[in-house]
Amino acid sequence: MIVTRFAPSPTGHLHLGHAYSALLAWQEAKKAGGKCLLRIEDIDAARCREEFVDSILEDIHWLGLVPDGPVLRQSDRMPAYEDALTSLKSRGLLYPCFCTRRQIIAEINSAGGAPHGLDGPVYPGTCKGLTKAEASKRIRANEPHALRLNILKAEQIAGNLTWTDRLTGTQSADYRIAGDVVLARKDIRNSYHLAVTVDDAAQGISLVIRGEDLFSAAHIQRLLQTLLGLPTPEYQHHPLLHDESGQRLAKRAGSPTIRSLRAAGHRPDDIRKMIRIAD
Ligand code: GLU
Repeated sequence: MIVTRFAPSPTGHLHLGHAYSALLAWQEAKKAGGKCLLRIEDIDAARCREEFVDSILEDIHWLGLVPDGPVLRQSDRMPAYEDALTSLKSRGLLYPCFCTRRQIIAEINSAGGAPHGLDGPVYPGTCKGLTKAEASKRIRANEPHALRLNILKAEQIAGNLTWTDRLTGTQSADYRIAGDVVLARKDIRNSYHLAVTVDDAAQGISLVIRGEDLFSAAHIQRLLQTLLGLPTPEYQHHPLLHDESGQRLAKRAGSPTIRSLRAAGHRPDDIRKMIRIAD
């Protein structure tokens, strides 16, 4: 049975782009006689607000979408993420990184640059060279540190991997270009990639429907699935919505929110028409 999900981060009100993802996920589930689940991705306490959780639940309800199971909140799932980190750590796949952003930039500049990864230049691996004794000493001294994935070691275990996108076909998992990604941030002992991978498996998601801006994230998540012994869902990265002038409909660009459209008198059917989704 197909199980899809809609996984918004409560950092703002839902806009048309979100509604498109949500309606598509519910539509695909319904078409296949499957289920669509809702997950609130609220691990980042500094950016997420309870007010936006309420507003997302209200908008989803107003759009006529009913989750086919309990709503999962990532803020309730910290022990599950910790277990995943422990499992990776026990196999020597993680190392502590004490670098600040500024130190990383300075290191890259002095090395004359770094290859481009998924979200900017690849981490130059400075802290990978620390001895165990040195790293332990700094941890004991409570020096803030992130946990990074040792991509070379990960590659030795995982080798070549593939995943499938419904729209673009079989993809070879290009996880190496990301370098030693952070799996636990300094501030929240967790990361987007880790939480999504663990939760997609926990919720039994068989089809991940999300915007194509997250296409590259699937490379890393595919790797984590193998390292953590989790199943690999199918993916459908949909094109992002643009307005008449070609501007991407993102919340930052001041695009209309679902609640502002509702306040202006629009009905759920109008929203469907605006984003060309049939009921
Ligand atoms: N929470 C992410 C967002 O709102 C989506 C994560 C995902 O679909 O993997 O952009």
